[in-house]
Amino acid sequence: MSSPLFPPTPPDEGNVPSVSHVSEDAGVSGQASAADGQGSPPPPATTAFNCPPPSGAELNGPPPTAPEDEQSPDDESYTTVYESPQPLATLEARDVTAWFGDHMVLDQVSLTMHAGRVTSLIGPSGCGKSTFLRILNRMHQLVPGAAMAGEVLLDGVDIYHPSQRLTQARRDIGMVFQKPNPFPAMSIYDNVVAGLKLTGIKLGRNDKDDLVKECLVKAGLWQEVRGRLRQPGGALSGGQQQRLCIARSLAVRPRVLLMDEPCSALDPTSTRVIEETMADLVREVTIVIVTHNMQQAQRVSQQCAFFLAAQGQPGYIVEYGPTEAMFDNPQDPRTSDYVHGRFG
Ligand code: ADP
Ligand code: MG
Repeated sequence: MSSPLFPPTPPDEGNVPSVSHVSEDAGVSGQASAADGQGSPPPPATTAFNCPPPSGAELNGPPPTAPEDEQSPDDESYTTVYESPQPLATLEARDVTAWFGDHMVLDQVSLTMHAGRVTSLIGPSGCGKSTFLRILNRMHQLVPGAAMAGEVLLDGVDIYHPSQRLTQARRDIGMVFQKPNPFPAMSIYDNVVAGLKLTGIKLGRNDKDDLVKECLVKAGLWQEVRGRLRQPGGALSGGQQQRLCIARSLAVRPRVLLMDEPCSALDPTSTRVIEETMADLVREVTIVIVTHNMQQAQRVSQQCAFFLAAQGQPGYIVEYGPTEAMFDNPQDPRTSDYVHGRFG
């Protein structure tokens, strides 16, 4: 089986920044393809095969660049109609294999992330959880030298199919990073709607006002900021900034929200608020969360996947199932050892 690997970006999308504010420029070197998806390394990419792993800042989403007026999509015809919340979506990864240069870091990972559920990804550092997450919304292809094989289906449609727009995948599948990355100098209000222009959505003033309120309510931040929407996002506490980032993600009406250790930089109170927010959000957005906190995985998720990688070997899923069963009655001794804190 072979699947499309980083299909060339259509010309009209080449300069559209992603909602996650990662430069698209890096994507051009990520178009290497794997021969068969059965573990053979892809042919060498054109550049930066030996690039070092990204710095912490990059892993957490680079410092965002404020969208400017002239940064509208190249293709003026690409104006997305703003839709009401859509039906819940299932995300399915099939035989996902990933490389950085000739280093395979994921080996044929398949996982179904069910509609309307929280799926937690657990496992020791370095086993490919963040890479897997970045593949789920096509951010992996922005890393120089990165390649992948396999399929990612959003309600049955492969987001890597050449007919699928990169911007649509980013819009449908939002991402929240470990380190909150609001635009610090931009107002709270403008932070929430920052993704609209980037994904080609145009709204009138009143609709925008309604949307800002709706998203801040959903992100559990409205009560705390309703009287200071014009103050800069950077003035908020860390936990508030993270909820602002969640609100920003929600504004483009994603169908899936990916969260990479969203609470690991937060205090317990902020963590609790975010967890409560997730419990509400999952009624309309499918959530996938990477967490190193075993208690958090048990509190927030209904499904759980345990990733593991031997030293220098690619990561894979050892076990997957209902979270309760994974923790109370794991089938694999390695899962048992991990969830009971005996390693990792
Ligand atoms: P986790 O999130 O489980 O800690 P990662 O997905 O970050 O794991 O990393 C998986 C493997 O890929 C690790 O060996 C890591 O060093 C490597 N890796 C991650 N990002 C890059 C990169 N940009 N370039 C090269 N190697 C990378
Ligand atoms: Mg990680």
